[in-house]
Amino acid sequence: MSDIIQLLPDHVANQIAAGEVVQRPGSVAKELLENSIDADATHIKLIIKEAGKTLIQVIDNGKGMSPTDARLSFERHATSKIAKAEDLFLLETKGFRGEALASIAAIAHVEMKTKQASQDLGTLLKVEGSKVTEQEVVTTPVGTSIAVKNLFYNIPARRNFLKSTSIETRHLIDEFQRVALAHPNIGFSMYHNENELYNLKISNLRQRIVSLFGKRTNEKLVPINEETDIITIQGFVAKPEFAKKKRGEQFFFVNSRFIKSAYLNHAVTSAFDELLSPGYFPTYFLYLTVPPGSIDINIHPTKTEIKFDNEKALYAILRATIKHGLGQFNVAPVLDFNKDSSMETPYTFTEDNPPKIPIITVDPTFNPFKSDPAPNYPKKTFSTKPTDNWESLYVDLEPSNTEFEPISREVTPITPIHTAVQIPLIQEDPPSSKTYQLHNKYIISNIKSGLVVIHQHLAHQRILYEEYLENSTIKEAMSQQLLFPLSLSFIPSDIALIQELKGDLESTGFGFETIADETVVVKGIPTTISESQVSIILEQLLEDIKNEIPDASFSQVDILAKSMAKSMAIKTGTTLDVKEQEEIVNKLFSCKDPNSSPYGKTTFVTMGIDEIDKKFNS
Ligand code: ADP
Ligand code: MG
Repeated sequence: MSDIIQLLPDHVANQIAAGEVVQRPGSVAKELLENSIDADATHIKLIIKEAGKTLIQVIDNGKGMSPTDARLSFERHATSKIAKAEDLFLLETKGFRGEALASIAAIAHVEMKTKQASQDLGTLLKVEGSKVTEQEVVTTPVGTSIAVKNLFYNIPARRNFLKSTSIETRHLIDEFQRVALAHPNIGFSMYHNENELYNLKISNLRQRIVSLFGKRTNEKLVPINEETDIITIQGFVAKPEFAKKKRGEQFFFVNSRFIKSAYLNHAVTSAFDELLSPGYFPTYFLYLTVPPGSIDINIHPTKTEIKFDNEKALYAILRATIKHGLGQFNVAPVLDFNKDSSMETPYTFTEDNPPKIPIITVDPTFNPFKSDPAPNYPKKTFSTKPTDNWESLYVDLEPSNTEFEPISREVTPITPIHTAVQIPLIQEDPPSSKTYQLHNKYIISNIKSGLVVIHQHLAHQRILYEEYLENSTIKEAMSQQLLFPLSLSFIPSDIALIQELKGDLESTGFGFETIADETVVVKGIPTTISESQVSIILEQLLEDIKNEIPDASFSQVDILAKSMAKSMAIKTGTTLDVKEQEEIVNKLFSCKDPNSSPYGKTTFVTMGIDEIDKKFNS
């Protein structure tokens, strides 16, 4: 048989390599930003269009490239950063594989302009699918600009695999934040669709954190400092009372490189010990410096995981340092913050335009079932249809049980649940209760075949979820205008997300006056929620969206509906009167899919009379 092995042509090899290096627009941004840092830039600008699907551009004022280097930089294994294997162990640079530009150029249209300080004119290079299509001499400032257009243009499967704009934007912002946090001594800016998301001046670490995560972050930070023979630890943890219910801002940098490490995360979390309630995660920004020879960065192609020589010792030191830092803070809780003028950017406020401080009142006793003197909501009618499950539960009901039968009747579809009792679901006074609330958690009702136990919180989630979905699909959400618009603060990246979600949020009844800087001004809210809940619901929604990222079945409207339902559903522990209990029963079994909550949890269980009989006969 003849020989069958052949060497892959370069452009094919590059495409394969690209699969490892470039998963999404965010990975391109990361590689380009890191190259600019390696080129000693002091200002780096990231420009994105359509979440990087049409453009990812990085412009730096670094050392630039000669015409030959510019050309070579697109070759695979072409790097100026290492020359021999031993160099791998002394790495001070971000890149070293010489793969990024070759990979990116294999799957996109790339345009590079670069000039060194010693040159009068610079170089323009255009590369498409690994082929150089143009090389020219141009006038361009010292430094390098690389524009990556039409990512994955020649790999439709990968292009289609990209997530929604808001998710890809989130990834881009994540990468930007990581690089910007690792290098407060470099100025960074980021633009998305011509909007300036960040403008970060050269600053110290605390200021960098604050300009990325909002002014309110400052008071939360507790400084951490430790220097030992094998490691130096610097940075901040957030005070325990600011811990989050979701894994939020948790950053480790090792030798200025963002890394993920479950092991070190455990060290930090355990240092917080009893200071955190179960289910809460600490926020931290920790910078570890170790000798380059004591880590191996080479184990992961995208380099976010590294291997330490002396992991156990690092664990112990880190844990002790955080404990000590928190202890210190308890003794001396007053933290100084040397404010400087760069703190004002990019969000400058003048005296006659002071920032609006959001006033958020939360009513802990709020019970969405208690009827408010609510405004007269416009009503839309629809008929509740019994579902299969409903019928199977309630077949052959005697007339005396009809109050539970979901008779076709006119009700408001997104009945504001706290006004729900206004709706005469039960025309007459019910004889005696056919429902019973157990431990303020379950509603028990008898059915033909035995009894049904309904989880009040999960059932209500299902009811609200379907109501919201119906609303956002039919685009007829009811909104109540606020007399005084609500002004809420968010961190810049969340502002970007809210901007993306604006349309969807509006279709559920939200109305926005402005979404800018660190402030969202809400002028209308869905009739189903109260003003005091707006901020909690939006925060929850943002958390949910960030956490749904790995879910391929992502749909924004769906997450929105789920999230709203979760926030709004009556909680376990709420006492419900009979009418309220019946409302839940009726509405649950009018749902399209009453069996499970929007997050897939069981909403009710039934117990047959046979089953109960058996218990007595055994
Ligand atoms: P690596 O960063 O691993 O060396 P890359 O493919 O990312 O590989 O880049 C190849 C080479 O191109 C780099 O080693 C560097 O010499 C040059 N280069 C890339 N980007 C820049 C830039 N922004 N400024 C100056 N040189 C750059
Ligand atoms: Mg590189």
